[in-house]
Amino acid sequence: MKKKVTVIGYGGQGGWHADHALKSDVVSLLGIYDIAQKRVELAKSKGINTYATLEEALNDERCDIVVIATPNDVHKELVKKALAAGKNVICEKPVEMTVAAFDEMAEAAKASGKLFTVHQNRRWDVDFLAMKQIIEEGDIGEPIRIESRIHGSRGIPSDWRCHKPYGGGMILDWGVHLIDQMLQLIPEKIVKVACDVTNITTDEVDDGFRLNIYFESGKTGYVEVGTYNFIPMPRFYMQCKNGSAKIEDWRQKAQVAKCLAWHESDVVPVQTAAGITKTMAPRDEITLKTYEIERPVSDVHDFYRNVVKAVDGIEPQLIKLCQVRRVMQVMETAFASAEKGAPIVVDI
Ligand code: NAD
Repeated sequence: MKKKVTVIGYGGQGGWHADHALKSDVVSLLGIYDIAQKRVELAKSKGINTYATLEEALNDERCDIVVIATPNDVHKELVKKALAAGKNVICEKPVEMTVAAFDEMAEAAKASGKLFTVHQNRRWDVDFLAMKQIIEEGDIGEPIRIESRIHGSRGIPSDWRCHKPYGGGMILDWGVHLIDQMLQLIPEKIVKVACDVTNITTDEVDDGFRLNIYFESGKTGYVEVGTYNFIPMPRFYMQCKNGSAKIEDWRQKAQVAKCLAWHESDVVPVQTAAGITKTMAPRDEITLKTYEIERPVSDVHDFYRNVVKAVDGIEPQLIKLCQVRRVMQVMETAFASAEKGAPIVVDI
């Protein structure tokens, strides 16, 4: 039997959850609740059941899973109420604005005995999965440094995302996804975090940031989000012990270059205006093999399939609270580092 889902906050992302629940093989949509009348009217016009109050929505005994898809400032209050009403809860990312607020939610989940997870849907992104596959296959060796960027040129959206009290800003919006992916790609202890933020289009929140995450073994992860980049840099760039990999754009395949030999027999010096260079001379096919990897197959609805199985105790939940907490810790330290203007030593 399909689990019944109620969506709280029927905006852009709540609409996505509702649409997915309507098409799902594992859940069905019970209804939505939103404080904005025009969103309620929109749901009604699509034949979706709506609730007049939050209490009515949360106390509907048919409901198995509540999805919280409101702006970030009310996540904690709503998650706690849904758990107290005996529901399993999926909360939208970034989950909350501080580690302390997240801990309160996690405590409430523990006390309720219900499932609580976060919609980290970019674990199913094909570009991320391609990088993960390259690392796992090991053909170019262990990573040394992974750079993960997302660049747009339209500034920060003019909705709640550009206001601090609602939990706006790019660290909490896109950063949370890219940091979560990075911690999956480099599953090691973090020893240092350094971040600076940009305020090109607004002073109220970060409209971009550059974050270096230093891991115990010396690997580094670099995460950058920009909303004022009219020529985007590659989505992923990775240096490994025995080669490099790049994904130019999330619609493209990963390109891999594997070093076949260190010897210098193929060096043809390159002429530059200032003279010749051997150091920066390109390689030929004798010492370098280049290839592309097929885009991995992925279905983001596997998130819901896992949640349903986890509620039934058949599978462990994929997006674990300990992972969510680490991402929160990195984001909180990133804000602190940007504020201080210096790296921060951590044990995360
Ligand atoms: P949005 O502004 O489009 O929608 C938010 C909706 O919540 C609005 O309809 C608003 O009226 C309603 N709302 C506000 N306070 C409420 C309350 N107390 N009770 C009930 N409804 C309330 O915002 P959005 O883009 O849909 O973002 C919502 C959440 O989803 C955020 O946490 C955001 O970070 C997350 N999100 C996640 C992804 C993803 O890919 N995982 C993508 C976009 C947004």
